[in-house]
Amino acid sequence: MQLLGEVPFLHIGADEVFNLATCRNCQFFQEEAGTNALYAKFIQKVIKHVSKKYPATQMMAWDDMFRSWSYQDMQKFRVKGKQLIQPCVWSYSGNSEGFNQTIKNQSLSQLCLEFRAVWAASCFKGACTPGQTLVDFQERVYNQKHWLDKVTLNPSCKQAIQGIILTGWSRFTHEMVLCELLCTSLPSLVLCLTVLEKQSLSISALYSEMVASLNLKGRDLFA
Ligand SMILES: [Zn+2]
Repeated sequence: MQLLGEVPFLHIGADEVFNLATCRNCQFFQEEAGTNALYAKFIQKVIKHVSKKYPATQMMAWDDMFRSWSYQDMQKFRVKGKQLIQPCVWSYSGNSEGFNQTIKNQSLSQLCLEFRAVWAASCFKGACTPGQTLVDFQERVYNQKHWLDKVTLNPSCKQAIQGIILTGWSRFTHEMVLCELLCTSLPSLVLCLTVLEKQSLSISALYSEMVASLNLKGRDLFA
């Protein structure tokens, strides 16, 4: 932050918090108030620290840890009655069943109603197998379409969703080497952006946008 200055957005992560309550103090608190309250207390500390130093910076956080919380528990993040973080809700599957399994309609609606400003996170690359070199275009392109449908069809999403963040990962698991690197994933990024921009899965639109964006004119893509 010192190097970047007062940036408009700061993503504090806050996912995969698996080692809560490792000291006695936290264990006492957890026994009294519960695990959700302990996690919320930890996030509140971060929020207060950042907002005190950088009041104009808007904080974002992954929703993993709290997406299935009750509406009441979600209110535990509030600082002086206001939600100061904007959750980033991810769902990366191109298969509609998998997509809806990851983020259920009810959880998404609750997040939208409580936090008011929420981001959707889609995936343009996602290392589905340990040694994956290229991206599964169909999987990624359909994932964008599922998000478009979700944002337009879910009434609480329409108001709360601020935008769709295209993201992804480059490792099958944390302990494995990188695969599906950015350079080989750029065509997928172009395709995914085209789906979101045109709001359709038209093959000819996708194809011509990719040829134009990546300067592939005159080359036989399928040679
Ligand atoms: Zn502790």
